[in-house]
Amino acid sequence: MIKLKSADEIEAMKEAGRVSAKALRKTGELVRPGISTAELDRFAENLIRMEGAIPAFKGYNGFSGTICASINDQVVHGVPSCDVILQEGDIISIDTGAIVGGWVGDNAATFAVGKILPQTQHLLDATEQSMWAGINAALAGFHVGDIGYAVQTVAEQAGFSVVREYVGHGIGRDMHEDPNVPNFGRKGVGPKLKVGMVIAIEPMINVGTHRTKGPFADGWTVFTEDGSMSAHFEKTIAITANGPVVLTQE
Ligand code: MG
Repeated sequence: MIKLKSADEIEAMKEAGRVSAKALRKTGELVRPGISTAELDRFAENLIRMEGAIPAFKGYNGFSGTICASINDQVVHGVPSCDVILQEGDIISIDTGAIVGGWVGDNAATFAVGKILPQTQHLLDATEQSMWAGINAALAGFHVGDIGYAVQTVAEQAGFSVVREYVGHGIGRDMHEDPNVPNFGRKGVGPKLKVGMVIAIEPMINVGTHRTKGPFADGWTVFTEDGSMSAHFEKTIAITANGPVVLTQE
């Protein structure tokens, strides 16, 4: 069931979005060769709690981190660890969220660790662009498939592939609400977008095959099937009469 939000509720969600965005930005600023993903996680948790918010991911279905920290060929849900030390040339996808007043914010971005290959930078740029294409298609009267179509078109025209098994989602008092928001699709297909819907649009884009594998031993981390790099950008947005409004912003 899709839970529509009132204008007041969307206003309230902006605070959870603001803290989520600040945690993502500030944690991203710490990304450098030599830092562990556990250090990034600790920083993000402290920041969120200092804002009077609650880390949305910690404890969610038993997840141990405040952030998901997914390196290189890890698509999503990487578990922060003191054993994972970032190295020059890596990329790291950080996904984090905060709860304020019972409302959840959720956002992600992929960061370069030091100097990265031009093709890897191209992946990051195309993934972020595909997210914005999806956001711009999130208009009342359109359909969920229009968002997926927009994301997929940008990603595939850049020569990359769209992960199928993991998708965006409605969000509100729960981190994952209806509807699912795939990053692939056809125009005019799927649930109709309405004023008051709040969704997380989050393309996961691979250099090689769209297929994924895992999770394996840790029960969480998802990898690209072929070991190619993967990037992930996400924002929580509200569909309003005046178009999409990004809630995960400072
Ligand atoms: Mg999400």
